[in-house]
Amino acid sequence: MIGTLIIISSPSGGGKGTLIKEILPRIPDLRYSVSFTTRAMREGEVDGHDYHFITRDEFDRRIADGEFLEYAEVHGNYYGTSREQVAKETDAGRDIILEIDVQGAELVMRRFPDALSVFILPPSFAILRERLAARGTENPESLTLRLRNSWGEVEKYGLFKYVVINDEVEPAANALETVILAERMRSIRQKARVQDILDSFDASKNNDPGD
Ligand code: 5GP
Repeated sequence: MIGTLIIISSPSGGGKGTLIKEILPRIPDLRYSVSFTTRAMREGEVDGHDYHFITRDEFDRRIADGEFLEYAEVHGNYYGTSREQVAKETDAGRDIILEIDVQGAELVMRRFPDALSVFILPPSFAILRERLAARGTENPESLTLRLRNSWGEVEKYGLFKYVVINDEVEPAANALETVILAERMRSIRQKARVQDILDSFDASKNNDPGD
């Protein structure tokens, strides 16, 4: 069985990271794609866990070697998804979350139309600004750039299969969990399991069904 790509996007500060942290331990056989980035490490981030932090040269080398499933320049830094990690998890039948920006999401959706895609929308622009400022991770220029970029990003929400409005963490996390679990129930995703059950029906055809 092949695992599903789960694309999750939002403007910076939209809260996708928080929601993903919330649902990862709740859902079995679900993994997180650790991206490569040229962005400077923030306080509290762990190399290899939040991102693989690399130099621009190293990033370029990996582009040249075809190591990224997709990559993009976002808010002035480079970010890329590891083709190898995604293949490893999906080949093992596990689903994998790609927490990526809208440009990257568009690319992955085009290439993998069967991917599950979810846009996390903050309840208003004012709240997005408040959350991003309160996070305290951005200098004033980066904060302005990220907010400015959010205008174009939210307009793309319609490209995604689902939208989760992130007003409060708990209900939004529940909604995201529901979407992922519902995706797993789709008949097309259960073919292998269903086939085993159908085989038992087939086998019974040789006998009187009442036996
Ligand atoms: P941050 O610097 O706040 O961690 O991330 C900035 C933006 O880059 C976020 O929207 C995040 O989802 C996105 N991003 C993180 N990793 C990737 C990636 O591998 N590819 C793309 N296209 N965007 C990414």
